[in-house]
Amino acid sequence: MILIDGKITSGDIKDEIAIEVAKLKEQGGRAPHLAAILVGDDGASQTYVNAKVKACEKVGFESTLVRFSAETSEDELLAKIEEMNNDNGLDGFIVQLPLPNHINEHKVTVSINPDKDVDGFHPTNLGKMLLGQETFLPATPYGIMEMLKRYQIETSGKHAVVIGRSHIVGSPMSVLMGQKGIDCTVTLTHSRTKNLPEITKTADIVVVANGIPEFLTGNMVKDGVVVIDVGITRVEDKTKKSGFKLLGDVNFAEVSKKASHITPVPGGVGPMTIAMLMKNTLLSRKRRG
Ligand code: NAD
Repeated sequence: MILIDGKITSGDIKDEIAIEVAKLKEQGGRAPHLAAILVGDDGASQTYVNAKVKACEKVGFESTLVRFSAETSEDELLAKIEEMNNDNGLDGFIVQLPLPNHINEHKVTVSINPDKDVDGFHPTNLGKMLLGQETFLPATPYGIMEMLKRYQIETSGKHAVVIGRSHIVGSPMSVLMGQKGIDCTVTLTHSRTKNLPEITKTADIVVVANGIPEFLTGNMVKDGVVVIDVGITRVEDKTKKSGFKLLGDVNFAEVSKKASHITPVPGGVGPMTIAMLMKNTLLSRKRRG
């Protein structure tokens, strides 16, 4: 079994980005600038945003963190987005999800200028992805594609089963796995899928993103399968300093015995997501000249 190490791979990608940024600066250019908007004080969201800011420092980007209280109105948030859309010193920005219930997530997503939407959630960018055009790919699926590439996983003609159909992971993942050049035969499964174990047992590659800890068990996969675990669930653990541990959507102990390649949690898809956000920001900086 080969462990697909997202920590090492994302470190390599960040090193590559840092070299490009250093070159840009040497030539008298401006460093890429990424901003993040955080609304409220959700613990997991704060951790993710802090990790993104830290990654910016590591690759030599400028970063800005804008914090709003959980009571901030939708109008206030939209006004900030408009300001960022028009800020020429900013190459990209993200609004950390989830948002408080009184704010319409879709309205926020579509208000972001697609040219600065480095999360790749805007319908324009998702449409371009569907057409196979160059765009900002959603960071998590982009990170998974990069891991498959760097670990030289054979995809052509393989059966890929994606579990979960969210707009940010499962659905784009199913599109990318079926694209020309990747050439998987894709089955997209979800909460209404019948006989899921029968389907996963025929999979050469399984991408699990349904947010149910240790959902994929050993008896659901065949020998030699490639398993990508997207899930991150915080589960109380009093033995940890933080008071919780992170669980993936895969029963690692069971599935790793049968898999040819598998991602761990933590240290798999998570760090890749951040590295690809950096890559999208660098792409935006280059596009803007
Ligand atoms: P979500 O939570 O929005 O939706 C879950 C999906 O799973 C739905 O499409 C649903 O149909 C499907 N589902 C639910 N029960 C199912 C079942 N029994 N069988 C099959 N499918 C079922 O999805 P999400 O936002 O993509 O998040 C999924 C997981 O991935 C969560 O744990 C989340 O924290 C994690 N995540 C990780 C990263 C990362 O960077 N590693 C990024 C995004 C999400």
